[in-house]
Amino acid sequence: MAKIGFIGLGIMGKPMVKNLLKAGHEVVVYDVVPAGVQEAVAAGAKAVASSKAVAEQCVFIITMVPNSPHVKAAILGPNGVLEGAKAGSLVVDMSSIDPTVSKEVGAELAKKKIRFVDAPVSGGEPKAIDGTLSIMCGGKKADFDEALPIMKCMGASVVLCGEIGAGNVTKLANQIVVALNIAAVSEALVLATKAGVDPQLVFEAIKGGLAGSTVMNAKAPMMLDRNIKPGFRINLHIKDLDNAMAAGHAVGVPLPLTGQAREIMTSLKVDGMGDADHSAIVRFYEKLAQVEVKKQS
Ligand code: NAD
Repeated sequence: MAKIGFIGLGIMGKPMVKNLLKAGHEVVVYDVVPAGVQEAVAAGAKAVASSKAVAEQCVFIITMVPNSPHVKAAILGPNGVLEGAKAGSLVVDMSSIDPTVSKEVGAELAKKKIRFVDAPVSGGEPKAIDGTLSIMCGGKKADFDEALPIMKCMGASVVLCGEIGAGNVTKLANQIVVALNIAAVSEALVLATKAGVDPQLVFEAIKGGLAGSTVMNAKAPMMLDRNIKPGFRINLHIKDLDNAMAAGHAVGVPLPLTGQAREIMTSLKVDGMGDADHSAIVRFYEKLAQVEVKKQS
């Protein structure tokens, strides 16, 4: 069994640590906020005082923090992983961040012969708890192969998509498809409602055809129940779409629909719904059309 360092004990990090402990690994943890640390220690992890201290004690280190600046702070910043890690260590960043930052972090670590894999996840808290996340990776095949048995404790599907940064490009592609799919379902159900057709029956009628999707199956029932409890928050999706647009601009790819979805989410955030589930996109369309999507019977 391995000794694993884990940095970032939020909604996702805590259950992921618990699954590593359940699999019999020793886990050394750190977070800038004490609440998550206490929960991980209660589950059997050992706490240390900094990311540097995590890296001093472990040659396999996972980070799971909100966004690019947090990854840079935890790995490259003062008292960060880079200061404590030994040559040959393997750092796996499972946060969803800008792929250009993944490449930057990988290059800085390589100067000290520290290896790096970006490995963002999809599936949210329920799948983090079950240990059935989808994990999309970027890095060298040998590093991926070494990390694979550890990632399998947290995920049902673990795929190497290419070099460093490819994991986050894949995650951004995922987030574009999800955002635009929710917007399309919203636009369609608002049309049905205002045209006098029960949106529940529209959902039932079309979900088995070409328009059907996992996103529609998960989010249309929430829209019909007028439930905007997250799930996945608008604010986090805004972060992902901003990263998608930065990545698109970096390689010269216009993302016109992603830009529109981002501005729909901007509007919802201004309306106080930044912490609502991303299915609250339907509320934007409802406001335009002055109609409410809901179950009619
Ligand atoms: P979170 O905000 O709940 O947790 C992040 C944790 O990182 C916090 O406890 C915070 O204190 C800690 N942190 C921040 N900066 C730090 C630093 N410099 N050093 C140490 N700890 C630091 O976020 P989350 O929901 O757990 O998400 C983590 C990542 O996973 C994000 O990139 C998110 O986009 C991605 N993700 C989240 C979900 C979801 O449903 N929540 C699903 C898939 C992917």
